[in-house]
Amino acid sequence: MLTKDTRKVPTICPFCGVGCNLDLHIQDNFIFKVTSPFESIVNKGNLCVKGRFGYDFIYNKRRVTTPLIRKHPQKPGQRTQAFDRSEWSETSWEEALEYTANRLVEIYQSGGSDAMAVYCCAKATNEDNYLLQKMYRVLFRTNNIDHCTRLCHAASVVGLQKALGSAAMSNTAAEVADTDVFIITGSNTTETHPIIAIQMIAAVEKHGAKIIVVDPRRVEMVNHAALWLAERPGSDVAVFSGMAHVIIKEELYNRNFIEDRTENFEQFCRSMEKFTPEYAESISGVNRDTIIQAARMYANANRAAIYWTLGISQSTHGTDNTLSLINLALLTGHIGKHGTGLNPLRGQNNVQGASDSGAMPWHYPGYQEVEDEETVQKFEKMWLIEHGGLNRIKGLSTTEILANVGKDGIRSLYIMGENPMMSEPNLNEAHLHMQNLEFVVAQDLFINESAAYADVFLPAVSFAEKNGTFTNTDRRVQLVRKAMTPLGNSRADWEIIGDLATRIAEKIGRNQSSGWIYNHPSEIFKEMGQLVPSYRGITYDRIDRVGLQTPVPNEDHPGTPFLFEESFPRGRGKFHPLDFRSINEETDEEYPYLLNTGRLLEHWHGGTLTRNSWLDDLYPEGYVEIHPSDAQKLEINDLQAVKVTSRRGNVILRAKVTEKTIPGVFFIPFHFAEAAANMLTNDAMDPEAKIPEFKACSVKIKKVDLTDLPFPNVLQQRGRY
Ligand code: SF4
Repeated sequence: MLTKDTRKVPTICPFCGVGCNLDLHIQDNFIFKVTSPFESIVNKGNLCVKGRFGYDFIYNKRRVTTPLIRKHPQKPGQRTQAFDRSEWSETSWEEALEYTANRLVEIYQSGGSDAMAVYCCAKATNEDNYLLQKMYRVLFRTNNIDHCTRLCHAASVVGLQKALGSAAMSNTAAEVADTDVFIITGSNTTETHPIIAIQMIAAVEKHGAKIIVVDPRRVEMVNHAALWLAERPGSDVAVFSGMAHVIIKEELYNRNFIEDRTENFEQFCRSMEKFTPEYAESISGVNRDTIIQAARMYANANRAAIYWTLGISQSTHGTDNTLSLINLALLTGHIGKHGTGLNPLRGQNNVQGASDSGAMPWHYPGYQEVEDEETVQKFEKMWLIEHGGLNRIKGLSTTEILANVGKDGIRSLYIMGENPMMSEPNLNEAHLHMQNLEFVVAQDLFINESAAYADVFLPAVSFAEKNGTFTNTDRRVQLVRKAMTPLGNSRADWEIIGDLATRIAEKIGRNQSSGWIYNHPSEIFKEMGQLVPSYRGITYDRIDRVGLQTPVPNEDHPGTPFLFEESFPRGRGKFHPLDFRSINEETDEEYPYLLNTGRLLEHWHGGTLTRNSWLDDLYPEGYVEIHPSDAQKLEINDLQAVKVTSRRGNVILRAKVTEKTIPGVFFIPFHFAEAAANMLTNDAMDPEAKIPEFKACSVKIKKVDLTDLPFPNVLQQRGRY
């Protein structure tokens, strides 16, 4: 029954990068309902199943709300996972933070900056991320700072930076209402960004917009598409360069735009000569006529936009894939205008913001390079550090951090809210690295597969128990509001970091103690705004009702719905000549199938939140998708238990026989620890972006007994039953 104590608190969804606006309805410190305002620019009152119903993880009895320390000291090489609470002792914040500070300082003083590393978090606020990267840069003088953006859109970032000088999504998602032609590639949009998918489908139904899907899977968007280019995994450069070839040959390009706004056109055209539709078909398996049709449809549109996610970026040539999309936009001039653009849809709720906040090994906040002397001196002055104090060498990326664990390398790891033991590729190898660490800190809500390795667990609060900001996929900075009192002894991430940094500063003797005391996250945001030009004009007051889209260079600026109207940050947009390179691990006689991995609507990333929600009851176990023709050949029935093996590991799970995948290609969602797709994936990386090739590796399959399925044993071990 509702009483006068019932409150409604506006805030932002904690799951995907769409950044839907929520109203949390609270009574007695309990969220009893979630709605969304119809007037929201972002989602117009719509929410997907995660945003509407997925918040119950906050009250899950498995959530940790008091600091914990491992009962048995862990040694490098013998570190084990402890899911069971009996292996941990409850402790006070004072003891947990003193212990953490002492161990980190001890390792820093004996091993130096190179022994330290931190994973920031795309689920945490801008303020949390800014403060954690600052703590590691200022106190431990290291740039070994990264987060899961490395595993999602690193190649998009590198490609966009190289060609345009800006890595953000160029246009506003709501502009899809006015787009005539969409290319959607490497994105299962209805499951990963469902509210944007709704808007795209509405554009098709209301004004006849056309969708071109380029994807090895028959994703739901194919049902609404004019064309489906069912490419072989890893052949993106061939398909998009094939389209570029047609646009050049048929002179469908935008001559004025190319002359006024771009460079390197001639050289690019020469490299496209070999990409005839026939050549593109021979690599990708996509019919040459369909490639020609797609090229004409995109080039002849009034307003055409390209949307992509991890199918493009998670590749050993993800940077080339991204450049092949950028080349198309530069060729046609479908950039710098309303309803057009290059739009890498960001995965987690604040992956854009965590990157903006400096949770990156090569960049300070605002993508300012750690190797640029002028930039470094600016940060030294702002952070009250002696000249020469900040580290001027690029740090290690996420996968490199684990690969460098050892006596003379990384010895300690601080993990805020991430789950690398689910999200890293080649997990068997990643586990070995994790076991070799000397000291591990986990700051989270649950003891997930990574936190189970920690020496100390610092219980953080959920999105509903803290203030701050998230920046969504279309660069909109929005206020996250504290709607309820934190449960138990849990604390906001920024408070934990501030308290810890004060202690570390005192122990190291850097006299920085006053630099870590903030009374409210708005103070942290203000400090960040002074260092990040695109955030300079944003204040909490200005985004109280509606968020602002960066760049917002001053307090009179209204925000920027779409980028590059007059110029690109690097001046002219640069065409990049391309050649086709195959995936790192092709099929062979022993491993005759390709594995593709991805996400599901009901779950999110490593599953720390959604698998501790009733959403897990909706979708409780992983499966491998097999095309009916392969299933027939292999005599595998629907729901048959199978073992899928790659050169790096194996998983046992059920088969789903479906035309969602194409012949020769399997698909496994990566959210399920008991059948973790990343046991199989390849850790070969794009040389520039350092993103691993999650989307294609060779595998084999065999039937096993249903009794071989690992559940519920693994789930019991993790306390889920
Ligand atoms: Fe949340 Fe994304 Fe769903 Fe919106 S689309 S409700 S932001 S998970």
